[in-house]
Amino acid sequence: MQDDLTGRVALVTGAARGIGRAIALALARDGADVAVADTDLGGAQETVGLVKRRRALAVTADVSYEDCVTSLYSTILAEFGRLDILVNNAGIFKMTDPLQVTAAEWDSVMAVNARGTFLMCREALRHMMPSGRGTIINVASTAGKSGGSVMAGVHYAASKAVVICLTKSLATYAAPSHIRVNAVAPGPTVTEMTAAWGEDTNARIAGQIPLGRYGDPREIAEVVAFLASDRAGFITGEIVDVNGGLIMD
Ligand code: NAD
Repeated sequence: MQDDLTGRVALVTGAARGIGRAIALALARDGADVAVADTDLGGAQETVGLVKRRRALAVTADVSYEDCVTSLYSTILAEFGRLDILVNNAGIFKMTDPLQVTAAEWDSVMAVNARGTFLMCREALRHMMPSGRGTIINVASTAGKSGGSVMAGVHYAASKAVVICLTKSLATYAAPSHIRVNAVAPGPTVTEMTAAWGEDTNARIAGQIPLGRYGDPREIAEVVAFLASDRAGFITGEIVDVNGGLIMD
């Protein structure tokens, strides 16, 4: 729906490419001004260049660092004066065999996917709760529900389970302030993340998906845009599957 988000300011992490870029573009199409945050500034600037008619800003940020997160919010509030929609999409994927996962690799995945999502939520709520408006959408994964049986490593799956739990905890916490917190749980989706798995693996996994194919990033973005809008005004603490039927619960 066009212009549903007019006058709102959205911040999307990991939006230099893939699902995050598609989300930033969908929110801008629906009327929001968007801040595009990523460790990859060049990619973030490319995303900004694709935004039509709305204000967009590329910001370098690593969500795993607390200082970086607080300075990101200072920048957004200085530039836009408000924040209405936060989408925590930044994430890293690993498929290492559980017996080969080092403590350092475990920590690196958790630092971005779990701690980064929490820090971004905490700062958003510090801003949103006093104003009594705003919404957060976290990007989880089917792996966070299934344990990652299709492809993902144990640390990736566990980090996305954290995202799911965090979504529910914060939804309860922020509801009295009229803040909604939801998540999408994508199944395998066509991005650089899954391109790295190789054609044979992707064909095999696609064969396990009832709809017989991977998702398109725009199909994830449409659900996020809906959750960000007032049309989803009575939905909070929900984890929305967008996975072609890979898991049904
Ligand atoms: P991608 O690897 O193509 O893009 C991820 C983006 O996040 C990149 O631009 C990267 O630079 C950025 N990023 C990584 N670490 C960051 C950090 N510390 N701070 C800020 N930005 C950072 O991935 P994608 O496939 O577009 O996935 C996006 C999200 O969706 C991730 O959270 C991923 O776990 C999740 N997801 C993806 C799939 C899939 O099949 N592609 C499935 C389920 C869930």
